[in-house]
Amino acid sequence: MDIIVLRPGSTDKEIRHVVKKLESKGFKAQISKGTERTVIGVIGDTSKVTEEEISAFEVMSGVENIHRIIKPFKLTSRDFQAKNTLVKVRENTIGGKKIHVIAGPCAVENITTLLKIAKDVKKSGASFIRGGAFKPRTSPYSFQGLGEKGLEFLSKAREETGLPVVTELMDPRDIDVVLKYADVIQIGARNMQNFRLLQEVGSHDKPILLKRGLSATIKDLLMAAEYILSRGNNKVILCERGIRTFETATRNTLDLNAVPVLKKLTHLPVIVDPSHGVGKWDLVAPMAKASIAAGADGLMIEVHSNPEEALSDGEQSLKPNKFKILMKELKVIAKAIGREL
Ligand code: PEP
Ligand code: MN
Repeated sequence: MDIIVLRPGSTDKEIRHVVKKLESKGFKAQISKGTERTVIGVIGDTSKVTEEEISAFEVMSGVENIHRIIKPFKLTSRDFQAKNTLVKVRENTIGGKKIHVIAGPCAVENITTLLKIAKDVKKSGASFIRGGAFKPRTSPYSFQGLGEKGLEFLSKAREETGLPVVTELMDPRDIDVVLKYADVIQIGARNMQNFRLLQEVGSHDKPILLKRGLSATIKDLLMAAEYILSRGNNKVILCERGIRTFETATRNTLDLNAVPVLKKLTHLPVIVDPSHGVGKWDLVAPMAKASIAAGADGLMIEVHSNPEEALSDGEQSLKPNKFKILMKELKVIAKAIGREL
């Protein structure tokens, strides 16, 4: 139910006008007159009311503001579904008691390096291999990824380790090839509001990892997820990966507030990518631990066997031995909060 709050001293005529407008839209009005002001409870299913329709009420004479009880995001909201969504990917279930770690290089560079990293992270307890074959680089002159060859390498890594593959889709034109190789399709931060891309991945059954945009609010992220769910695909995992702030000491500001806020607002699983959140390898472990403590359902961590030679994001990649130590520490934190890793 939405609540329309009227200005102090609003007249009966104004109230009647608001009630009439509500009734013309198929709602019933429940009027509550207080000593200071009157509020109107809107009865009926307001979940399909658009922001524009709300604005039309907001500008009416006598109306002070509108309090939305049903959030603008609907299918993603806990109001719509109280129980956590569990996203199943092969043998793994994301959003349940077990915390999953997605690890691997920023970009797929060659088969030898990828296989080595995949085997190492698997041994340390990661449950997914990641790696970009289509890379969203800020500069058009930077390494753009190996394309389909990179996807083939990822599927080879899956064959050898059993780890399901997470990889990014940047362009709806590449959907078929990415569907063929990926177990989870990543939508990167820069494409979080690429609505055509969201609609495209919403039309398939493949799990989606949706990363928060660089300047996206939590509401923006949920509205982006709503695009995917509204097309019929509810296998969406949200990912906090740091946002742009005035702070320059780190690449981004990892917004860990987003974890409990999202867990409250939505039934979708929430994971954290501390690698892009901080941009420096030595800051990844503390923030990974904090993410688990904050209630994240998983982590995405960049790991590279030779970060100095990495074609992208070497500065924020953990070496496999550091990743191994981190995984051990994370297990302790997971256990302390009643989860497992
Ligand atoms: C990535 O995961 O490698 C990546 C490019 O992330 P983001 O979209 O969050 O920058
Ligand atoms: Mn990266």
